[in-house]
This record gives sequence, structure tokens and C-alpha cells, in this order.
Amino acid sequence: MWFLWPIISLAALAGLHLWWRAKFNAQQAQRAAEIEASRRQQQQTSLEAQAQQEVLFDSMLEGLLLLDRSRKIYLVNRAFKNLFGIKTELRGKTIVEALRLHELDELLRRVEAEQQVLEYEFKLPDLNERWLQVNAAVIKNAAGERDGTILVFRDLTRIKQLERTREEFVANVSHELRTPLSLIKGYVETLLDGARDNPEVGERFLKIIERNTNRLDLLIQDLLTISALESGRMKLDLQPVKLRALADKVLTLLHSKAESKNTQLVNELPELTAGADANRLDQVFTNLVDNAIKYGRANGAVVVGGKQLADGKLEVFVRDDGPGIPPEALTRVFERFYRVDKARSRDQGGTGLGLSIVKHIVQAHGGEVRAESEPGKGATFFFTVPAAAGG
Ligand code: ADP
Repeated sequence: MWFLWPIISLAALAGLHLWWRAKFNAQQAQRAAEIEASRRQQQQTSLEAQAQQEVLFDSMLEGLLLLDRSRKIYLVNRAFKNLFGIKTELRGKTIVEALRLHELDELLRRVEAEQQVLEYEFKLPDLNERWLQVNAAVIKNAAGERDGTILVFRDLTRIKQLERTREEFVANVSHELRTPLSLIKGYVETLLDGARDNPEVGERFLKIIERNTNRLDLLIQDLLTISALESGRMKLDLQPVKLRALADKVLTLLHSKAESKNTQLVNELPELTAGADANRLDQVFTNLVDNAIKYGRANGAVVVGGKQLADGKLEVFVRDDGPGIPPEALTRVFERFYRVDKARSRDQGGTGLGLSIVKHIVQAHGGEVRAESEPGKGATFFFTVPAAAGG
């Protein structure tokens, strides 16, 4: 039997080995399954984190663009897509491929050289005059190497427009103030230089000075009104206002001005009661009738009329039979300092702000203004106001 021992031992060893192999394999499989599960878990967590990140980035007002280290797009948020009007997937493209903006590509190189570029402004080459501001910085990894670039875009268009409007306004105001001021200065100097010794000349010069001082006064009053209206500081005192009676009052006050041009003033307004601020509405009527007399023809007529509209609002018109307004100027006449005929307006003592004030007041009441004209036959200005409650 002794010769069987080695065989038995070998068989036992082989069995042991097989058992151990099986156990080892099972352990390996379990380890692999655990690693796979953990990898899946990590992947899931990273997907969730990415989704959360995207929600966060999409809630930003600024456009966000993340580039990887090979300058390919890694991520853009919703605001970015809206800014550039993009609907397609951008991941993996370069800036030039995605946006065709070489200016941004140059900016990217600058950012890489300088590590960050702040408040870089540029105009988009589209027709709508859109301005963007970019803040950009290089993203680094733990070893301090460039890992990507982040660019944050802000739409500056509105701010630029406001800036330009403000600059234009300041330039206009300065110009408007300078004209009467330089006339006053000139005539005062001439008077001091001896013109005052001739009473007739002196009187004429003083009248010119008076006229220009009044113009300055008017201009400053109009500017203060515009500023109060635009800033919303002017509170309306809404009361029932009888429109026909208000128009009568305004026509009476402007009667002598109309008479000097032999203009007939006609009040055709029916008995309508508006819910409005009487003083402000007085200003609207005065500006419109004053313009109709100023720009209407001599020996002509100015008619004020109106009616209740289907939506319950009241519509008032002021019509003249003068030379009218060219079609391209019909909406522009409501802009500050816009005049169809600059010299004529100034001769008439106009500030160029009257219709802008009219528009602001009417809009503050929730109404609208517009002008219609058949050149050569006259102009009609319309405005709407709310009817008085229950009226
Ligand atoms: P202004 O002080 O110059 O009268 P407004 O704002 O009241 O300023 O009017 C702007 C411009 O609109 C005027 O300069 C004038 O050219 C034009 N305008 C206003 N009303 C009339 C009208 N009834 N007929 C023709 N042009 C008018």
C-alpha cells in the first residue's frame, strides 16, 4: 500500500490547489464586482454633480464658456447660447469653429499669456450693434499647469446705449444753453463798450438779452420737468378733469399769440371727463396748441377735438392746417431736442423738448401719443388718457 501514498498526497495537493483556485477566483470576481460597483457609483455621482453644475450655470445671467487645455469647448451655459443665438452642440469645437469670432481667439491667447484679462469690451459684428464684456482667466491644476480657460460674458448693449443717450443729451443741453448765453454775453459786452450811450440801440439790445434770458429760463424749466418725469419723481394727482373746459382755458391763454398770426382757435371737444392730473394735462394741451400755432400757417385754424374710444379711453386731437411734418419725422418729433427745422424752431423760441414732455406726461397716465400729417395740409397730434372712474 506504501506506493499509494504519493498518489494520494498528490491527489490531495491537486484538490487543495483546485479548491484554493476556485476560492481565489471567487474572491477576484467579488473584488472586480466591487470595483465596478464603486466605479458606477463614482460615475453616477459625477454625472449628478455635472447635472447640478449645469443647473447652476444655466441660472447665471452671464454667459459662461469653459475651454479645456487644448482650447476646445468643454461647457457653455444657457445664457451664453442665448447671447450668441446658438442652438447646436458646441462641445469639442474651438472658439473660431463655434463662433467665427477671431477677436475672441486673440483674447484667448492674451489670457494664456497674462493669466487673466478683465473687463475686455468688444462689439459683435452683427447689425444690431451689440456690445459684450468678457472676464477671462486661465484655470490651473494642482501642479500649476494650464488646465483650461474660463470666459464670462456680459451683455453691455443696454449700458452702452444709455451711455450714448446720456452723452448726446449732455452735448445737446450744452449746445442749447450756449447759444442764448453767448448772445447775452455778446450784447452785454457791446452795451458796456458804449452801445448803452445810444438809448435806442441800448433798448434794442436789452430786449434781445431779455428774450434770450427767457429762453434760458424756459429751457431750464423744461429740463427740470423732463428730469422729474424720467426719474419717476413726478407724482400724478389724479382727479376728474373736464377736458372741454381745460381746452377752453388753454385756448384763452394762447389767444393773443394766435391773434398775432391771425390763427383761429376752435374747441370741438365734447363734454368728456378724464381721470388725470389737471396741471400736467394743461401742460400737454398748452404744448400741442402752442406748437400748432407756431408751426401752423398764418390765417389758418387750430382745432381741438376728441371722443371716447371703444376701450373706454378718451382720445384728444389737436389739428392745424400748416405745412405739416414729413413722414420720416412723425415719430422722431417726440424725441428730446429733435426738430424738423432747427432754425425755425429756435426762431419761435422752442426748446425742442415740448413734445418729449407731452409724451412722458401722456405715458405716465397710461396713454399714448402719435402724430399724423399730410405734408402741405397740416399736422394732427393725438393722445389718449383714461376716462374718470364712472365718467
Ligand atoms: P420745439 O420747442 O422745437 O417746438 P417740440 O418738441 O415741441 O419742440 O417739437 C419738436 C419739433 O416738431 C418742432 O421743432 C417742429 O419741427 C415739429 N413740430 C411740432 N409740432 C408741429 C406742428 N404742429 N406742425 C409741424 N411741425 C411740428
